Amino acid sequence: MKRIAILGATGSIGTQALDVIAAHDDLQVVALAAGSDVEGLVAAARATGAEVLALADPAAAERAAVELGRPVLSGPRALVELIDAAGATVVLNAVVGAAGLEASLDTLERGLDLALANKESLVAGGELVLAAARRGGGAILPVDSEHSALQQCLGELPREQLSSLVITASGGPFRGRTRAELAEITVAQALAHPTWAMGAKITVDSATLMNKGLEVIEAHMLFGLPYDQIEVVVHPQSIVHGMARLRDGALIAHLGHPDMRVPISFALTYPERAAVPARPLEWREAFSLDFEPPDLETFGCLRLAIAAGEAGGTAPAVLNAANEVAVAAFLTGEIGFLEIEALVDDALQHVPVQPLDDLAAVLAADGAARTRVAARIAEVGA
Ligand code: NAD
Ligand code: MG
Repeated sequence: MKRIAILGATGSIGTQALDVIAAHDDLQVVALAAGSDVEGLVAAARATGAEVLALADPAAAERAAVELGRPVLSGPRALVELIDAAGATVVLNAVVGAAGLEASLDTLERGLDLALANKESLVAGGELVLAAARRGGGAILPVDSEHSALQQCLGELPREQLSSLVITASGGPFRGRTRAELAEITVAQALAHPTWAMGAKITVDSATLMNKGLEVIEAHMLFGLPYDQIEVVVHPQSIVHGMARLRDGALIAHLGHPDMRVPISFALTYPERAAVPARPLEWREAFSLDFEPPDLETFGCLRLAIAAGEAGGTAPAVLNAANEVAVAAFLTGEIGFLEIEALVDDALQHVPVQPLDDLAAVLAADGAARTRVAARIAEVGA
């Protein structure tokens, strides 16, 4: 029996994970955490019987505690306290943003397995996360669909036989658009993703292609390949999720209709594989798969992310934090779509890169980037 703590339980990944777990006798939810969604947490707590609960927002935690008639952890240390109290064997981190980093570190330091949807952990604090995994001995099981696919394509393949990893991108809702067209994009248009239904932040990241940039950094950390051996290809159908290119020219691909329950289930049941009621690919009707190179000039966020990854140190933490603030401002209508890229670029140019020595270095870089972007937005808005 795997005892699972779900961080970010009320979100897109969290609720799909609850569905996967409910259908599986060997998986049990022991703890649930979210940000401020009282109704979502209360419903999930009642449905699962999870004993340990947390909401980051103290007022929300108080309301949930009254409704449930039992304590709900809260505050900045809530996730770490929840992991301590939960007695979990696996922690699913499906929090959005760098807010998930400390929980990833804590999980791995304790030697627990980390099912990781929160890619921002690996972007902001990659080497620290890997070091925590080495010290604690727990596994990092990627939930991101591309990385789950790549893990399966790689299997036990000896590294010298691998020539590169290929990450597919849907291209988002604005594939083929010009910069001039992107300047006019509305929030509603950015939130209408062609192939995946996800939380708002990652949906905007998919529209700017920042999501693919974060995933390139994530792949670099998870699989230890240099950036020039990580390829990105646009594939609008989102059926091929990832490919391993071998030194003899063969490509091993992972295919399926886009359905996050598949990688969630794989991470939670690993090394077993459970049945998932996903729609099968059908060969009785013709369909085609298209591939095209990404447009790095129009979608500059992908280029910025790869450059930040190559720069190393705290540069990816700056990129990530600047992007979080810019995306939040785009979602509230304070800035336009192309300003996300401009603000991330500005932060990377002005926040000095430091070595990634410890969590304090990440938090300092993250804080400096947030301050810089907020100040720039205030200037523009004034
Ligand atoms: P979402 O916005 O739907 O859900 C986010 C969850 O995190 C919510 O439960 C929210 O309450 C919680 N949360 C927010 N701030 C918190 C905090 N400070 N402390 C505790 N909980 C907090 O987001 P999502 O789409 O489910 O994405 C979650 C993560 O998974 C992101 O890192 C995203 O990049 C990654 N991911 C998502 C998908 C997808 O299909 N949705 C696919 C791949 C990767
Ligand atoms: Mg992905």
